[in-house]
Amino acid sequence: MKKDDIRKILGLDDSIDIANVEESNENGKLIKYVYIKSNRKKVRCPKCNNFTHRIHDYLKPSKVTYLNNSGIETYLIVRKRRFECEYCNKSFTEELNLTVKRGSISYASKQLILKDMMNRNKTIEEIARDYNVSSDMVRNIFLGGCKTLQIEYIYFQKLFHLMKHLQEQMQVYIHLF
Ligand SMILES: [Zn+2]
Repeated sequence: MKKDDIRKILGLDDSIDIANVEESNENGKLIKYVYIKSNRKKVRCPKCNNFTHRIHDYLKPSKVTYLNNSGIETYLIVRKRRFECEYCNKSFTEELNLTVKRGSISYASKQLILKDMMNRNKTIEEIARDYNVSSDMVRNIFLGGCKTLQIEYIYFQKLFHLMKHLQEQMQVYIHLF
């Protein structure tokens, strides 16, 4: 897969370069590591708002987030730079414009979740586990998808299960009072 395609799948913007992609087999599970860095030549100083080109040093790579990309657990490894302002000498760490943030999910992953919802053998909880997101997020994506996609029989079936689940929860609350 081309690096540009990986960038699109992960929903990263043009300011992010993919330096390397590694795949490793950990306890029989394939895990993908995508090394990313910013390609910006200058950044704005948070103190005086001027642009600076002066790189102070590089931070240790950090594992920012992970998501299930086409069924493969994927980690982004980011190496951030620390800049020094040419005007006020403040040193600061650059911010990377990552659309894939912890707790959020890319458009491509949403599409995969919707596709999985069509699979009647998979429960919402199983899908949530596969994509490292909460069951609530899967429900929200599903309900959002229902608005935009053609509603099919299987969707109604899932909706029925969801309603039943909510009804059961309501009953638990009713019993409490
Ligand atoms: Zn400054």
